[in-house]
Amino acid sequence: MKSIQSNIKKAKKYLDKNHCIAVPSETVYGLAGNAYSDISVKKIFNLKKRPMNNPLIVHYFDINKLKKDCHINDNFIKLYNEFSPGPITFVLKLKKNSKISKFVTNKQNSLAVRFPKHKLFRSLLKNLDYPLAAPSANISTRLSSVKASDVNEEFGLKIRYILDGGRSLIGVESTIINLLNEPVILRLGGLDIYKIEKTLKKKILIKNNFKKKIAPGQFPLHYSPGIPLRMNAKKPKKNEAFVLTKKRKVSYKNYYYLSKKNDLKQSAKNLYSLLRKIRNDGYEMIAVEKIQNKGIGKTINDRLHKASKY
Ligand code: AMP
Ligand code: MG
Repeated sequence: MKSIQSNIKKAKKYLDKNHCIAVPSETVYGLAGNAYSDISVKKIFNLKKRPMNNPLIVHYFDINKLKKDCHINDNFIKLYNEFSPGPITFVLKLKKNSKISKFVTNKQNSLAVRFPKHKLFRSLLKNLDYPLAAPSANISTRLSSVKASDVNEEFGLKIRYILDGGRSLIGVESTIINLLNEPVILRLGGLDIYKIEKTLKKKILIKNNFKKKIAPGQFPLHYSPGIPLRMNAKKPKKNEAFVLTKKRKVSYKNYYYLSKKNDLKQSAKNLYSLLRKIRNDGYEMIAVEKIQNKGIGKTINDRLHKASKY
């Protein structure tokens, strides 16, 4: 308990000085900085090598802290009451007098906000008098981090501090919903869209192409292990690692299990760390067996599809 408090204090000290640190969350680890500080926010983009026109998600302790920066609406309140804190990000209208750095939003008048559930992240946010901009703690286009050692592998000594909160329980990023007008899903994620539809009592459109925000000609590659990956494979080719979700009668050295029981939640939790392991084991190609396209399986397929653009 004492060490938790002293770690939070240490994290706060770095953030107060405009440094970036890594923070644990239930989705994936974040690379966090003071969202009100231009200096901190620019550091995040530089460290990640992220294009400045790809806006960041800002993390708040609760709705009271959010109200300083954003206008809220009925759909937001319904979803916030049901799913926050948790793996859902809301795009809301930014208030004119908000102190959010213009670099966070790429000068737009909307802001993506989330209320993370991880205990350490929450107690950190509670102790700060500013919200945290925190994209995933990885080099742009690469695999997200789900534990402290992944963050180390991505950034090494370039970041000052990692608040170690163990392994991320969900393992994939948040679901993003735009609530500026009629609700629209912008990114599939850790929260099943079906649950959102049930709460709002209507079918929600999915529009997850980001043509407008991504510079022309920019590669749609994302979530990549840095080696070629193919989906819906029946069997591996020579020298390929084979990623499976159900136990096979015979296993070979190149067989890697996301789950042995075809459990989609467990597969999502293991996704990024398994792909990282395969690359670190020296494989140069990955084949993934067909993954059921339902629930969080849709999110897994979305990530694999983007990773396959290598
Ligand atoms: P990441 O931080 O890597 O998890 O990615 C954040 C995602 O949120 C990106 O896909 C952004 O395009 C999206 N995003 C952030 N802010 C906004 C916004 N104001 N409007 C629409 N999408 C946003
Ligand atoms: Mg990311």
